Amino acid sequence: MTDADSFGTAVGITGIWPEPPKFWSFSALDEVALCPRRYALSRASYPDLWDRPGYPERVSEAALLGTAIHEGVEVVLRELNQVGCDSLADARAVEVIRCLGGYSEIATHALNEQLGKLELNPRMLPRVDRLRQRASSRLTEMRRAIQTLVSRSPLSLRKPGTDRVRHAEHRFDGRLTVGTHPEATLCAREDRFTGRVDLVAVYPEHADIVDFKTGSHSERHERQLQLYGLLWLLDDVANPDGRPIRSLTLGYVDDVRAVALPDDWEALRIGLREEILTADDLVRKRRPPASPGVHCWHCPVRQLCDEYWESTFVSRDPGSVITDAAVRVLSRHGPSSWNGTLVPDGTAVLLRTSTEDAVFELDREMRILDLVVAEAEDLDGLILTLTQHSEVFGPMSSITTPSA
Ligand code: SF4
Repeated sequence: MTDADSFGTAVGITGIWPEPPKFWSFSALDEVALCPRRYALSRASYPDLWDRPGYPERVSEAALLGTAIHEGVEVVLRELNQVGCDSLADARAVEVIRCLGGYSEIATHALNEQLGKLELNPRMLPRVDRLRQRASSRLTEMRRAIQTLVSRSPLSLRKPGTDRVRHAEHRFDGRLTVGTHPEATLCAREDRFTGRVDLVAVYPEHADIVDFKTGSHSERHERQLQLYGLLWLLDDVANPDGRPIRSLTLGYVDDVRAVALPDDWEALRIGLREEILTADDLVRKRRPPASPGVHCWHCPVRQLCDEYWESTFVSRDPGSVITDAAVRVLSRHGPSSWNGTLVPDGTAVLLRTSTEDAVFELDREMRILDLVVAEAEDLDGLILTLTQHSEVFGPMSSITTPSA
């Protein structure tokens, strides 16, 4: 590692830039295309924060539920597959679901698994209990989503062979034999592209690919699925016989969409290769370029990104009551309020916290995410209120982030 590999940030957090990955995934390429800096900051190492790769993720309730639903579907499909079930009407399917404790238990277990992972994340630790409470109240919705997505799966064929011995050069799995394969990891070694496909159904003459989505339809989902089709064709370990793709399907909770096969797989492959070379070049830069835009509002590392704080996107759209703000605290106003100014233009602010525990170092700049903002008529400025969703970044040793 050289000095150029490490970086500091205005909020006192230091990190080490990442190298391009050995294998690119669809979501990683997508993130580089959106903003190379976001990709690099998200995947840099932060040895002072924790010993895991990447910046600790901020997980929303929707993302948590989506992942848990995926997990629940995978568990059911795997078990159905194990007993060679070819229909949900099959008595063995009923028995499998019963042995798993029923759909409610499957949903609860999947949710608890995901919440357990968050307890290892320093950014999420103070929020896990609240998230658990809120997510638990949506278990019925989760159960229904898992049940619906399972019912949309092609449970055809016989039990797949167990011919999935690890291949020395393949990233994860070996050959996928005739059968249905939930959560199959495919890898195009020569093209350095990999992906975890929700379901590959392999038939003697062809294969079908299904991807489940908990959100609403987007063209991005269609491109992802076409690239998964390409991945299947290029993976000479999982698909050594070169079985063609028969269909690509997106399964939503309330819809099913067939995705057209590309007219020209080779053109798709050439485009992917170029995308990967471009991504390699961008990530190798020791300060990858930043591309500020409205997407910054949901960027998980915006607290570290100077370009964002210097852009006009910090204040979000005029109608939003949620904002990010760089604030300089000047004096204590009351037990749970502080006088300060906005850093860029000196606008007066009254910073309110929900407890009296928060202590801010005076005359230092802080970056605060997700504040509630309101006009303060008697102050000729703004009232900024910290909520349980807010995060404070700055000279961390001097700030106690208020708990809600
Ligand atoms: S805040 Fe915006 S510009 Fe900065 S890293 Fe995130 S997405 Fe990129």
